[in-house]
Amino acid sequence: MNRRHFIATTSIAAAGIALSQTSSAGTAAKPAVLGGPKLRRTPFSTWPVYDETDEKQLQAVLRSGRWYRGNGTKVAEFEKSYQGLTGAKHCIATSSGTTALLSAVGALGLGPGDEVILPPYTFIATYNVAVNNYALPVFVDSDPESFQIDAAKVNAAITKATRVILPVHIGGNVADLDTLLAAAKTRGVAVIEDACQAHLAEWRGRVVGNWGLAGCSSFQASKNLTSGEGGAVICNDDAFAEKVYIFQGQGRPRSSVGYHFTYAGDRAANYRMPEFQAGLLLAQMTRLSQQFQTREENASYLTRLLGEIPGIKPARLHEGTTRTSRLLLMARYQKEHFANLDRSKFLAALSAEGIPCTPGYGPLNLEQNVQALAANRCYLRIYGKRTMARWVERNRCPVNDKLCAEALWFPQNVLLGSKSDMDQVAEAIRKIQAGAADIAKAG
Ligand SMILES: *Cc1c(COP(=O)(O)O)cnc(C)c1O
Repeated sequence: MNRRHFIATTSIAAAGIALSQTSSAGTAAKPAVLGGPKLRRTPFSTWPVYDETDEKQLQAVLRSGRWYRGNGTKVAEFEKSYQGLTGAKHCIATSSGTTALLSAVGALGLGPGDEVILPPYTFIATYNVAVNNYALPVFVDSDPESFQIDAAKVNAAITKATRVILPVHIGGNVADLDTLLAAAKTRGVAVIEDACQAHLAEWRGRVVGNWGLAGCSSFQASKNLTSGEGGAVICNDDAFAEKVYIFQGQGRPRSSVGYHFTYAGDRAANYRMPEFQAGLLLAQMTRLSQQFQTREENASYLTRLLGEIPGIKPARLHEGTTRTSRLLLMARYQKEHFANLDRSKFLAALSAEGIPCTPGYGPLNLEQNVQALAANRCYLRIYGKRTMARWVERNRCPVNDKLCAEALWFPQNVLLGSKSDMDQVAEAIRKIQAGAADIAKAG
């Protein structure tokens, strides 16, 4: 039955390391949440990271007086550089990851009557991109092992109305692109990769975003390459890249500059990246490869440590993943291994030990604003009452509901720490496990 393939989660980095563990012989320290000593008192590394390189870039843009891509040079320089990093033929910078996605689906001509396939385990931006175009969002349930869209279920969700699949590479890991692309190809549906969390992650040796018709990145403050806000579309199709450019720049082709006004395409917006953002990104990129290496090494090491703790199930990587970008280390928490301690209490206990960890996303398809779409005036007009009533049913994702209730996220600043920081994360969890019955009793 199980047709999913995963690459081994064991890490080379972990070989020969003496694991730091809390004694299981009853000598474990009292959990901090019950008044015991706090395991970690120093904060983890902060994000973002910057120095005078970044200051110089921002100052250079300021002093040039050329703050917009039409007369400046930084956005173009960034695009060239990001093209090089990702190996894409084209890169079009945008004002955010959301506007990168909007430009890509805009270039595709997405609109009312079209269906968009997306995972429920994602940031709401992916969904907003569909509904901003009055397209019908269709959620395909999650694979609990990897946290990614269950690619094997995509084919059954495709209909005659499906215009595009928006797979998300969640957490900086990679969705099962082989299965997704095969389904899309057979059914003649476009794929636009939401790679907003997965800059430079690779599938079979090629950077994600290069596999679909286009791929979108975000440089928002929480992402692992950031300018506060920002985004980019990468693409290997010349004609499509030009359409994306035209869409994000008010319908003006590259030849239309300054006070020379000519237009192309049919619909457009202003989703341009400002020069300041591009300057900042150029500075941020000088540290990129070091940060990526640190995160990836720490994440594989911590994955191995967590995998040895009963009741903690780190997200597995699909076979085909040759590199991750590890925005998050995601894992599932099974409370039966923690004296039935609720996840919220486990998180509070972890926080008391000085370890940052969050529960992550709730079930997106069940959010009240998403459910409200069924009663939206325009949606009722476009799709009719029956389709919108059925839409709620069609969007049930029971596997994802359970996943959202069990998930744990360790954020990227934890992953940017030292190897002993990773040991401490695992040690804190073992400490709580040893004291779980006491914590549960304390209420
Ligand atoms: C961050 C994010 C986006 C949107 O990016 P913004 O730059 O915040 O607009 C889209 N999809 C996913 C999966 C994201 O994490």
